[in-house]
Amino acid sequence: MRTQSGTAILLKDYRPSDYVIDKVDLDFLLDTQETVVTSKLTIRRAKGVATDAPLELDGDELKLVSIAINNSALARDDYTLNDDGLSITQLPDSDAFTLEIVTKINPTANKKLMGLYRTSGNFCTQCEAEGFRRITYYLDRPDILSVFTVRIEGDRDTVPLLLSNGNCTDKGELDNGRHFAVWHDPHPKPAYLFALFAGDLGVLKDSFTTRSGREVSLEIYVEHGKEPRAAYAMDSLIRSMKWDEEVYGCEYDLDIFMIVAVSDFNMGAMENKGLNIFNDKYVLADPETATDQDYANIEAIIAHEYFHNWTGNRITCRDWFQLCLKEGLTVYRDHSFSADERSAPVKRIAEVRGLRAHQFPEDAGPLAHPVRPQRYSEINNFYTSTVYEKGSEVVGMFKTIVGEDGYKRALDLYFERHDGDAATIEDFIKCFEDATGADLKQFALWYDQAGTPNLAIGTNYDEANKRFTVNITQSLRSTVVTGEVAPMHIPVRFGLVGPEGSDLSFSGVTGADVTGDVIHVREPKHTIQFEGVEQKPVISVLRGFSAPVTTIPERSDKELAFLARRDSDAFARWEALSSLAMRQLRQATKDVQQGEEISTSPELTTILHEILNDDTLEPAYRALCLNLPSEADIAREIGSDIDPDAIHTARTHILAAISQECLVSLEATYSKLQPAKPFVPDASSAGIRALRNTALGLIVRANGDLELVANHFANADNMTDRMDALSILALQAPYAEETASALEAFKKQYADNAIVTDKWFAIQAMMPGSNALERVEALSKAENFSWENPNRVRSLFGSFAIGNPTGFNRADGAGYRFLCDATGRLDEINPQVAARLITAMRSWRNLEKDRAGHAHEALKTLAAKKKLSRDVRDILERTLA
Ligand code: ZN
Repeated sequence: MRTQSGTAILLKDYRPSDYVIDKVDLDFLLDTQETVVTSKLTIRRAKGVATDAPLELDGDELKLVSIAINNSALARDDYTLNDDGLSITQLPDSDAFTLEIVTKINPTANKKLMGLYRTSGNFCTQCEAEGFRRITYYLDRPDILSVFTVRIEGDRDTVPLLLSNGNCTDKGELDNGRHFAVWHDPHPKPAYLFALFAGDLGVLKDSFTTRSGREVSLEIYVEHGKEPRAAYAMDSLIRSMKWDEEVYGCEYDLDIFMIVAVSDFNMGAMENKGLNIFNDKYVLADPETATDQDYANIEAIIAHEYFHNWTGNRITCRDWFQLCLKEGLTVYRDHSFSADERSAPVKRIAEVRGLRAHQFPEDAGPLAHPVRPQRYSEINNFYTSTVYEKGSEVVGMFKTIVGEDGYKRALDLYFERHDGDAATIEDFIKCFEDATGADLKQFALWYDQAGTPNLAIGTNYDEANKRFTVNITQSLRSTVVTGEVAPMHIPVRFGLVGPEGSDLSFSGVTGADVTGDVIHVREPKHTIQFEGVEQKPVISVLRGFSAPVTTIPERSDKELAFLARRDSDAFARWEALSSLAMRQLRQATKDVQQGEEISTSPELTTILHEILNDDTLEPAYRALCLNLPSEADIAREIGSDIDPDAIHTARTHILAAISQECLVSLEATYSKLQPAKPFVPDASSAGIRALRNTALGLIVRANGDLELVANHFANADNMTDRMDALSILALQAPYAEETASALEAFKKQYADNAIVTDKWFAIQAMMPGSNALERVEALSKAENFSWENPNRVRSLFGSFAIGNPTGFNRADGAGYRFLCDATGRLDEINPQVAARLITAMRSWRNLEKDRAGHAHEALKTLAAKKKLSRDVRDILERTLA
């Protein structure tokens, strides 16, 4: 238990609990203002623990009504109450006893959306990480596993649906228009996986028969009338269940699996046992309202939460430091699933773009932390892309190191050995070592050392001796590692690409351990010599992005262009192209800053032109290539003294120049490509739409033909086309008449659809121009804005801070002051969402000095506010440190 609020919790201080809870019986008398929760705990003192050891239960914003041990009420001085919980000092000598606690909570007043709260008139819970303590006093830690039985009683009319984890074992009518249901979950679980939903929703039902013959009923609950929009989520669920059986041998273990979609949710979704609760934007979809990206997100998140049933629920985490044990692995599993269901290379490129956009800056800034942190003061601030996405990359590297087969054996062993456990990263690594014999001590550093390693790579070909030399130097500059940085084990997938584009063979190699197509970099510096290389190769490194590192390969533009055309690895081909584009975008930014004419290289344009016209390449891949690095990508690459206006000008210029060169082909692509009608959300149709709409955006960059886009918008029969057209208008022509009228039409058409209205807010928040901030300010006062709905808050403020580099980073600093004010206001309602929002300013030190100064002032002003949540305070302290 946290004894002093504000003090950090350390991994090295972990110790098992003195008491365990074998059984929990919960009883909820639901009421909008005053819900009464009776909790009966069957408690056992752990072996060797003294009888006078106090029982310390966590609690937050609870009203205590009564406590009894073994059915006799406790006297007031048998326990002490404090801000963080309850400490019971008078306990029986016997090692087992029952504890009954009655608390009252107010779900309507709960705007933090942790614990039991109301959403659209319904009751819903969110307990991960520490929300259960807002329902009742408990040992709210993931290593306390218990069997839950839950009775829910409520009003028959207003809450016809009463759901919790496991199976429904009883239900019935009561007097006064009330009714009840009893749910029993036979699988012991930590409190963070508890869930309750009570309310009035419609349901879409289906079923799945597991491979051992268990008939599972599948139920997705959504607002009445929206049931058909849950069909894609259901389809994704069934495919996920099948995939997990086939690929991981994991079968579902209850007779019912439920998903409930709610509109007010702090995150994406939650894997509660047998009763997942979802942000409804990751459940509801139809062609009219969902984009291809929305469909892909739904598929991925449904899979992610379902996969948690084994990696998270059956095997959970010993403590929150081990969060990546379940999240990194489960993200890796959902990535693999999407790769199998869609195009693997396209999926991989999108993952890497996401990793670089979010995780790399986190790892390079003041909020950097290891994949497994060693300390935290607020755990909610550690649901980060480092824990999730870098955590997933680490799992992927395990597979690269031990091979497909070894990976499978290791995971089988993990499930067999740890089923029912609250496990650690050490347990996980041990399974790899025991199953494969690999020595993973050095590799394990990936969990403990923050920061993105860099590989400097140089090569030399000795024609006379047919010897190719590769020098690799690794380094790690970390903002948070204090003391010595140890060299890491970095698996580098590579190929020696010969002049014809195929990989050259070699007869021997010295200087590093090379297995198959992987160089194992372990030393600070390797000089690797490949013997018997018949022609001079170009080295292709980090194929498939085999490790989350940065590289500065010494390669000429010509070599990059060669790889962009010829590398057999699709990821590496894309990577070479992006590097080439990045060089040019950086040069152009410099040109702008120095007031010189912007130089363009014909080579980049030529390659892009070839890709555009190459029908042998997947449309989705071509679209990715044509979407040059974003302004944020360029800023990150520049790294310091960033001037967002110069970047914007440079990028706009380069894109226009390229588009003009390719205009004829772009127009041909736009008119000849036709996705299947009626709309199908599959990956190949999505790819066609992506390429076609990318071409449209570039055509407008070349010739400013807004009428073409306005027509595309007006004639769209699906949200992808409509939204892509709207974005082109809003981002490229923020002041045009066509843009204003499209935005107005869009608003009217979808006024009663919150998920689509979020898109309307987001796109406007991203519009560049000198009045961007005024627009966002006005939107924050609009009648359809809400401070209490996390999706709405994120779509306005989040999109502005992250998706509008020039508007947010206005030279006078007004954007920073605005975001800090908004964060302060939001903090009084929902600290978790507020804390997430202000992380958008973590890279303030990288800005040019005037902007950095304004940002610094704004952050300090917010930090000086007296009443700040622990969540926001923690982020600010680290950001300013
Ligand atoms: Zn997860």
